[in-house]
Amino acid sequence: MTTVLNQLAARPRYIPNDPRPSLIGLTRDELAAALARAGVAEKQRRMRMGQLWHWIYHRGATSFAAMTDISKELRTRLDEVFIIGRPEIVTEQVSTDGTRKWLIRLAPDERGAAHEVETVYIPEEDRGTLCISSQVGCTLTCTFCHTGTQKLVRNLSANEIVAQVMIARDRLAEWPHQIEAMKTPPAGGRYITNVVLMGMGEPLYNFDNVKRAMAVVSDGEGLSLSKRRITLSTSGVVPEIPRAGEEIGTMLAISLHATTDEIRNKLVPLNKKYPIKELLDACRAYPGLSNARRITFEYVMLKGVNDSLADAKRLVKLLAGIPAKVNLIPFNPWPGTQHECSDWEAIEAFAEVLNKAGYASPVRTPRGRDIMAACGQLKSESQKLRAKERLAVEAGA
Ligand code: SAH
Ligand code: SF4
Repeated sequence: MTTVLNQLAARPRYIPNDPRPSLIGLTRDELAAALARAGVAEKQRRMRMGQLWHWIYHRGATSFAAMTDISKELRTRLDEVFIIGRPEIVTEQVSTDGTRKWLIRLAPDERGAAHEVETVYIPEEDRGTLCISSQVGCTLTCTFCHTGTQKLVRNLSANEIVAQVMIARDRLAEWPHQIEAMKTPPAGGRYITNVVLMGMGEPLYNFDNVKRAMAVVSDGEGLSLSKRRITLSTSGVVPEIPRAGEEIGTMLAISLHATTDEIRNKLVPLNKKYPIKELLDACRAYPGLSNARRITFEYVMLKGVNDSLADAKRLVKLLAGIPAKVNLIPFNPWPGTQHECSDWEAIEAFAEVLNKAGYASPVRTPRGRDIMAACGQLKSESQKLRAKERLAVEAGA
C-alpha cells in the first residue's frame, strides 16, 4: 500500500517566482562573489562566507533570521537580496518497503514553465541511498526506460541538484544537530550514506552543473558526503568520461545492458555514436581505479533480449582487465513498455556465470515499485504554467 503524506507543515515557505537568487548550489568562491555584490566588505568576505556555508550546509538553515552569529543588519540585507529556501515538495510517498519518493516542483524557468523532478531515498540495512536527478526528462531514448519517454527536457541547475539532497535531509530530519538530539540515532550518524546520480536524466549531458553540485555536496564542512560514496551513472557519453574522472571525481557506473553492439544499439541508441569498445576503453582509462575503487556496470535483465548464458560469458570477456562489479537490475515495468523482466532462473544463472568469473554481481532487489520509484520508472508530468500565471511571471510579479 502506498501512503501519501500531505502534512508537510514543517517545510520552509516557498515563494513562487521569487526574483531573489538562491545561494544554494554556489561553490565557495561563487558565494564569496555573491556577498561582494551584496556589499559585504572585502576583508569580511571570507569569514562571512564561512559562516553562511556552515548555516546553510551544516545546520540546514532555511532562513537568514536563524543565523544568530551574523549581525541583524547583515541578516536583513541578505534577506533583501537572496533566498536559501527549497523548491516545493508536491508529494511525498512512502513505499511499503520504506523507500520514499519526493516529487519536487522547481521554480519556473525563464519561459515560465514549472518543471518537476523526482528524488528517491532507499533505506537498506547497512546504508541509505539517495537517488537524485540531473535533468528534467532525458534527451536519450533507451527503450526500457520510462524517463526516456518524457518529451520535455531541461538541465537542472547546480542549485536544483543540491536542493534535492537538502530536501531529503529536511524530510528525514538528519541535520547534525537533529541527529545529536535523537535518542536512537542511525548507525554512523546519518540516514543518507550514499548518493547516486541515477534518477532522471543523463548527468554527463549536464556536466558543469553536476560538477559544481558535487563539489558542494562533497564539501567536508557542509553536506559532507565523500566522493567515494557518490556514484555517477552514465549511459556512455564517452568523450566526457575522462573529464568526469578528473574534474568531478566521483565513482562511476556504466549502463551497459548488452554485450553486442547490435543489441546495445537497439536498447541504448547512444551506442551507435559510442560503441561498446570505445566505452570500455574509456572505462579502462578512468583515473584512480583499483580493486577497492571499481566501476559498477549496470545490466537490466530483459527477457529474451540480453539474458542468455552466452551474454553472461561475453560480459565476462568484455570486462577483462577492468576493476568492475556488475549490478543486475531486474527490469521494472511501466505503463506502455514493450519489455518484460527476465525469469528468476535466468537471472540466477546469469549471476552465477559472473560470480564464477570472480565478479561480485548482486541482483538489485527492486525497491519502491508500488510508488513507481524503482530504477527507470521515474517520469514527471512537467506542467506548463497556465496562461494567467505565465503573464504574471512575464510582468515580473
Ligand atoms: N541516465 C543515466 C542515469 C539514470 S538511469 C544512465 O542511463 O545511466 C539509472 C539506471 O536505471 C540506468 O542503469 C538505467 O539503465 C536503469 N534503468 C532504466 N530503466 C529501467 C527499468 N525500467 N528497469 C530497471 N532499470 C532501468
Ligand atoms: Fe536517459 Fe538513462 Fe533513461 Fe537512457 S536509461 S533514457 S540515458 S535516463
